Amino acid sequence: MPLLKTPAIVLKSRKWGDADRIVTFFTLKHGKVRGVARGARRMKSRFGGTLEPFVYCDLVLYEKPGDSLYRVSQTDVREAFHPLRSSLETIAGAARLANLAGAVTADGDAVPRVFHALLEGFRAIQGSEDPGLTAALYELEVLRFAGYLPHLDRCNVCQGRASGGAWYFSSRAGGTVCTACVKREPARCPAVSPACLAFFRQVLRMDPARLPRLKASASLRNELHEVIELYVDNVAGRRMPRTHGMLAAEPQRVYQRAVTT
Ligand SMILES: [Zn+2]
Repeated sequence: MPLLKTPAIVLKSRKWGDADRIVTFFTLKHGKVRGVARGARRMKSRFGGTLEPFVYCDLVLYEKPGDSLYRVSQTDVREAFHPLRSSLETIAGAARLANLAGAVTADGDAVPRVFHALLEGFRAIQGSEDPGLTAALYELEVLRFAGYLPHLDRCNVCQGRASGGAWYFSSRAGGTVCTACVKREPARCPAVSPACLAFFRQVLRMDPARLPRLKASASLRNELHEVIELYVDNVAGRRMPRTHGMLAAEPQRVYQRAVTT
């Protein structure tokens, strides 16, 4: 049985059979892979807590001929990211980032820059004073390296550079649309203020290492969140967990919902 060794990040993990888990990893060398961890739910499992979502580890997998699922052989933790699981906002932010990396990459396709953006995103979210905003900015980084960056320099329908008023954001068109074209867009397109556009453009130009230091006013933050969340949903092809409006729910349930969908 061939053996794979690679740095890996746990994207999600679900129960399987009586005592096992099926774990989706985003790996540096082989992209997204799924593996069965035999006995992972037993009290004295050798995997311990290493199969929790967001854990960064050294992973060893066996490939079974004729089976699309790998067998998880060994996991050694590099970074456990415990602080990411300490609040609803960090859980939701990290889960959005993990889900996005999984959604925009194909099984078995290594995309090292997405891998590093995910890792840097986790580090930034757990150290951020504003985890929701930090997560949203790193979502853009993941999209950038996966080749889905939105275009904000013109109308993405008519290619015009003047809008004759406000600009709108169309997820379907992949960026800004003008006042005339927005009327023909099938889905809702939020208006984007000049301040939001300027901030957005700045983010897309800047060195990712400086992202966690960016600050935004509450209104700008809300506007950015709405635009980025709509766009991410569109690229991912489904509605992703939200970082806002989750406070009424009980933490464990949000955690489950965010990482086990
Ligand atoms: Zn237009």
